[in-house]
Amino acid sequence: MNDDKIFDVLLIGGSYSGLAAAMALGRALKSVLIIDSGNPCNWQTPYSHNFLTQDGQPPNQIAALAKQQVQHYATVTFFTGLATNGIKTDYGFAIQVASGETFRASKLIFASGIQDHTPPIDGLAACWGITVLHCPYCHGYEVRNEPTGLLGNGEDGLELATLISNWTTRLTLFTNGKSTLTADQTTKLQQHAINIIEKEIERLEHTDGQLHSLVFKDTTKLPVKAIYTRSRFEQQCKIPELLGCELTNDGYIRIDAAQETTISGIYACGDNATRIRTVANAVAMGTTAGMAVSKKLIFENF
Ligand SMILES: Cc1cc2nc3c(=O)[nH]c(=O)nc-3n(C[C@H](O)[C@H](O)[C@H](O)COP(=O)(O)OP(=O)(O)OC[C@H]3O[C@@H](n4cnc5c(N)ncnc54)[C@H](O)[C@@H]3O)c2cc1C
Repeated sequence: MNDDKIFDVLLIGGSYSGLAAAMALGRALKSVLIIDSGNPCNWQTPYSHNFLTQDGQPPNQIAALAKQQVQHYATVTFFTGLATNGIKTDYGFAIQVASGETFRASKLIFASGIQDHTPPIDGLAACWGITVLHCPYCHGYEVRNEPTGLLGNGEDGLELATLISNWTTRLTLFTNGKSTLTADQTTKLQQHAINIIEKEIERLEHTDGQLHSLVFKDTTKLPVKAIYTRSRFEQQCKIPELLGCELTNDGYIRIDAAQETTISGIYACGDNATRIRTVANAVAMGTTAGMAVSKKLIFENF
């Protein structure tokens, strides 16, 4: 790498968490480069909920307003592109981007989010974040009392059914193959009038992500308005791992109370470091990281 451009902080990820960190740093007069590839996890969701002052707004409008406010701070610079590599240097760190440029800083903040791997069922990805939902606190109110499916099995299926029963009692658990529920778990679901369907799912029928029904491999179908499921995920950016940052057993970047990772000088905030997956929490973590990094720089340079 050629170390050609130097900042106080390089921020990888310029969505909610990254922008919040950048605002705190900009207000502390620190020079920051935000490197962002423009791929936030909620891009397909029409409306975002449960974030004060922005409830029900399109996610990209919330981000656009945030960016506009961060742009007021003269020491914050934006770079659109993908960070592809990172190394430790005498000065701190260097980050390379896909177009070949290299940027340098004494501190790194990763606000790079996670990448969902939704269940591989035809039609499901097109409904993700619209009528196939990951979180009732984000979208449950909008489909309260509707006939709703739960895609899960065993302990996870019971846990999901228990949680979602707060928003609707019209629930069906789709195990998509043989049930792995214990007898006690099955009885518990039956006591709450939750149907259990073991048939394998062929596809989701929908119009522009608005779900109509589930079609089973035996060609029968069942109308449903929404489905909750849990997706697998991986870190969207692998550079923290390349630089030696530890992950938790669940796959999140391990951080301390100041958002610092297990590698000194590297911080993480937002979805990549927590299972509390909300815009509000991403912003809170970003603000904390920005303040912690700026304070560290102030004290180091005094
Ligand atoms: C479908 C869906 C719906 C949701 N709905 C809601 C809701 O209604 N309300 C709510 O509060 N929360 C909701 N959430 C959760 C919320 O979207 C996340 O908690 C929030 O987006 C996390 O912000 P973040 O900044 O950590 O990550 P993200 O918003 O995912 O942004 C990560 C950013 O990092 C960038 N990036 C990653 N790697 C690199 C790299 N190598 N180089 C450059 N840039 C990189 C990406 O391009 C992206 O812009 C939803 C999530 C999903 C998946």
